[in-house]
Amino acid sequence: MERHRIAVIEDEPDIREMIEHNLAREGFAVVAAADGEAGLDLVRRRGADLVLLDLLLPGLHGIEVCRRLKSDAATRRIPVIIVSAKGEESDIVLGLGVGADDYVTKPFSPRELIARVRAVLRRGTLQDEEGADKRIEREGLVVDPLRHEVQVDGLPVDFTATEFRLLHRLASHPGRVFTREQLLDSVIGDRAVVIERNIDVHVRAIRKKLGNRRHLVVTIRGVGYRFRDQEQSA
Ligand code: CA
Repeated sequence: MERHRIAVIEDEPDIREMIEHNLAREGFAVVAAADGEAGLDLVRRRGADLVLLDLLLPGLHGIEVCRRLKSDAATRRIPVIIVSAKGEESDIVLGLGVGADDYVTKPFSPRELIARVRAVLRRGTLQDEEGADKRIEREGLVVDPLRHEVQVDGLPVDFTATEFRLLHRLASHPGRVFTREQLLDSVIGDRAVVIERNIDVHVRAIRKKLGNRRHLVVTIRGVGYRFRDQEQSA
């Protein structure tokens, strides 16, 4: 079996060793670095299938590490999971904005971390999975872009164009967290008129229309929204 190689960039030795130990026990190959520069160098030199990235690092901040990984053609397709302390929601939003694929907040259980790693490896990065015309069927919900149709438990429901694009965007990437800004960008495509609260209004309308299936659109407090993944409840 091919072993996935995980790069861990974390400056606290206890946490780094705990992560390394748990990944290794689950059969992952692990490489590690204790600061941002060394981490970047490690990933560029040796490659990785996924990066676990602490934010508060000596020298180069994790956000900058993520931005550099995601703006370099050689590394942009490597998924990045941000590992950050609780209460750093604004940093998480920044991280997702520069292309991070998911995040885990400290303290976390090894089980949660492994589940996130597996989920992100399974779904790949955003760049891998564009598919604007993809028909989606999930738990009684059908979203069909070609016919511009939404069905909930077999019954057609009217969606506005914006609501439809928003729902399709979320549902195309189950389990992925989107910030409000990312959602607004994708549905309206004009950064000049970003009013992030608009997204909440649209999501409220979408949930109302989803009725019994409203739980499929999950609120991530302080960060944004995600479409429910089968293997993740939130
Ligand atoms: Ca740290």
